[in-house]
Amino acid sequence: MKDRDFERFKKRIREEIIRSSDFTITNEKEALAGIDKLIMEIATELIPIAAKKIKIKIDEFDKRLKKVGMIKNTEVNGFVRSSDNWESFEIFFNFGLMLFLPAMIELFTRRTGIMENGHPIEIPDIHIDKTVRMAEKLMKAFWEKKVVTVANTDFTDLTESQYFLTAFFVRYSEAFIMAHEFGHVVVKISSSKVEELEFGRKISESILGKIPELDHKTKNQLMQKWAEEFAADLVSLNLLSNLQGSFRDKVLIYTAVEFVFIIHGMLEKYHKILYNRDIPIGTHPPSKFRLQTLRLVTGRSNSPELYKFGEEYEAMADDILKKI
Ligand SMILES: [Zn+2]
Repeated sequence: MKDRDFERFKKRIREEIIRSSDFTITNEKEALAGIDKLIMEIATELIPIAAKKIKIKIDEFDKRLKKVGMIKNTEVNGFVRSSDNWESFEIFFNFGLMLFLPAMIELFTRRTGIMENGHPIEIPDIHIDKTVRMAEKLMKAFWEKKVVTVANTDFTDLTESQYFLTAFFVRYSEAFIMAHEFGHVVVKISSSKVEELEFGRKISESILGKIPELDHKTKNQLMQKWAEEFAADLVSLNLLSNLQGSFRDKVLIYTAVEFVFIIHGMLEKYHKILYNRDIPIGTHPPSKFRLQTLRLVTGRSNSPELYKFGEEYEAMADDILKKI
């Protein structure tokens, strides 16, 4: 990554940190404006790649994209909608998740630094018990639909490498969520010609076939929905892998993608701890299946380097949940 980019990411993450630690209902407008600006920046990067994938001009894609905005919701991550058969569309993001995700990423990357030979080269300066307490507080607030700050925690003393990782992961986790919504657009506009949708169908069929408690009718209803979600994930990965960058950047970008599902998986498991019931099976496949699908497609065994970070963070997430 170029120095200039690094500086930009550092500035960005400092803004993120200030935003999340100062957040109260009174400066909600300001927080929203901040996120809006950031997601527009990411959208600008992704639009040409998405347009190319569906073989339409960038101008045309721009024209069809009527709005990118925020919703105040903690249940839906984001969604895309169209009322004219994809002649135009709007994309919305979950405000709660966009504040929650950076806070969790900060928390996780604080316990590690850039890795060498599979080992973090920095010693975590935050104790695991403290990490557990903070993670619990953040997850509880998410499900209780409260935007939360991590009180009494100083996030401003991150090392260079922690800054780098946090900034990078936050940016590309958010980029993945946005590219996923673009993925839905790609699938809708291209209709059945997208190979990712075909793959999504096969995956959905095999997973839904193994869930015994679902009746035939429900399975059929979910089949298409899940296929579209898996396809949107795969298109998203494809869009992100077409961004410029070195192999190491790509490893980190892929880790950011895994982060989305690792953290979302934590939220799902914490939901069970908090309310003593699972999130009902619905239009979105559970995070673990989405993560498995990405790993299946990226060919885990062929490039172990790609998964070092992800596995490290996944183990950390499990540790945290065990201690709650
Ligand atoms: Zn989706």
